[in-house]
Amino acid sequence: MAVKTIGVVGAGAMGTGIANLAAMSGFEVVLRDIEERFLDNSKKRMNAFMEKSVARNKMTADEKEAALNRIKTTTDLKDLKDVDFVIEAVLEDMELKKSVFKELDEVTRDDVILATNTSSMSITEIAAATKRPECVAGFHFFNPAQIMKLVEIVRGFNTSDETVDRLKEIAEQLNKEYVVVNKDTPGFIVNRVMIPHFIESIRLLEEGVASAEDIDKAVKFGLNYPMGPFELQDYAGVDIGYHVMEYFRKEFDDTRFSPPLLLKQMMSAGRFGRKSGAGFYDYE
Ligand code: NAD
Repeated sequence: MAVKTIGVVGAGAMGTGIANLAAMSGFEVVLRDIEERFLDNSKKRMNAFMEKSVARNKMTADEKEAALNRIKTTTDLKDLKDVDFVIEAVLEDMELKKSVFKELDEVTRDDVILATNTSSMSITEIAAATKRPECVAGFHFFNPAQIMKLVEIVRGFNTSDETVDRLKEIAEQLNKEYVVVNKDTPGFIVNRVMIPHFIESIRLLEEGVASAEDIDKAVKFGLNYPMGPFELQDYAGVDIGYHVMEYFRKEFDDTRFSPPLLLKQMMSAGRFGRKSGAGFYDYE
């Protein structure tokens, strides 16, 4: 069955971006969060994003109005009963995700694919909260979802080929590049590659080998990356990298993922990155 309406659960940074992207791609959207204030804030951010798109001639004012009108918001998960596809983007908390999937399994039609935007958690464990694990998969967008080109399609242990094929179609309709991650492994591809490069760059800094500025410059010009590891960590939030390292260390039972001492100290000192005013760099 063709997907016309997409349910998005969680209206934070990622849910907002995904709902915005889906509406701009022509889908009807039902966006759910637990309180009206989160939905109001999300609508404001979508409106601001689309206003910029109009100013840059990427869409007309009429297209903007039509896209905003395609987005319905709700605090009641039951309003997702008629959607054709769901993408969950609640907080990165396994118990919360399992309870959301259990509820989604009860509320939506049996054939609806339930996808999670988790950055690192087990798709198989989330799918086990439902009676349709073959229809559950990871659909991992990057921040900001409207702009970043990639989506990782992640198979859980029981994800069917049909589900993967349908997700490829949806990714194409959203104008994204996709990769298929064949094994349900913490961090999938991108975060698995990204986290060791964060760890090594922090170790270089700790060892006094070079300054953060020079490590960033070396990576940007030597590897042709658009951002250096410290700029990227400050942008994404230093705490996010720390939590993913801890999660990897636990799941792989491997100390090579242990957060370096400097990062632990930064967490204690509240240097969480750009939004907190200071991270590896100072922003105030
Ligand atoms: P966020 O904290 O900005 O937003 C989460 C939202 O979920 C909040 O608005 C919260 O009120 C809402 N929520 C909590 N319980 C809910 C429920 N039961 N039903 C509906 N909404 C509920 O988080 P985020 O950064 O948008 O991350 C969401 C997910 O996306 C996480 O799994 C995260 O790991 C993943 N992710 C984040 C990024 C990123 O850079 N922020 C990138 C890729 C993936």
